[in-house]
Amino acid sequence: MRRFEGDRLLVATHNRGKLEEIAALLAPYQVTCVGASELGLEEPDETEDSFVGNARIKAHAAARSTGLPALADDSGICIDALRGAPGVYTADWAETGSRRDFVAAMTRTWEELERASAPEPRRAQFCCTLVLAWPDGVDAVFEGVMPGRIVWPMRGEQGHGYDPIFQPDGFEITFGEMDRWEKNRISHRADAFRKLISGCFT
Ligand code: IMP
Repeated sequence: MRRFEGDRLLVATHNRGKLEEIAALLAPYQVTCVGASELGLEEPDETEDSFVGNARIKAHAAARSTGLPALADDSGICIDALRGAPGVYTADWAETGSRRDFVAAMTRTWEELERASAPEPRRAQFCCTLVLAWPDGVDAVFEGVMPGRIVWPMRGEQGHGYDPIFQPDGFEITFGEMDRWEKNRISHRADAFRKLISGCFT
């Protein structure tokens, strides 16, 4: 696997929070992270039906147009009884047209499980795929998962997205009830980053 040798990495996201989180994770490896909006990059359409497909679109588009190695991620929650849904459409389930409403998305998740008469435990996993792409087209893919179950009603005020209805394996609390430090230690994103760092940065 190719190692990251430079000192500047383009993080293919327009989300400031995500850029800062990734910059902090990579700070020990003397990497300066630059965000896609700082370089005025457009957001490409995510037209694939897999996490890796969409992460590849974002990473390769950014690497090609800047000449820098680029890192992109794609993530979501996959629910067994819904045949993997919402999966790559996790964010879309929260879309209202003008904003994202995650209470509505979690309610829809629960309603679809009820409609399917899904038995307990309602198995699910959070997934995170990272793609590091170089301008010459080479890439490296890292996949992280956090298995658990969907619970109802929602519990907890912490975190974001679907955290209040996801109870990770080995815990009696949801991601929404877990402190940020603990979640960041065990999450699907932490799993993927551990693999990225051991594959390309150490
Ligand atoms: P994206 O990868 O930024 O496109 O986002 C995927 C969607 O998955 C987001 O809308 C998040 O709500 C959801 N998601 C990803 N990771 C988490 C998580 O750790 N907790 C809750 N929701 C998440």
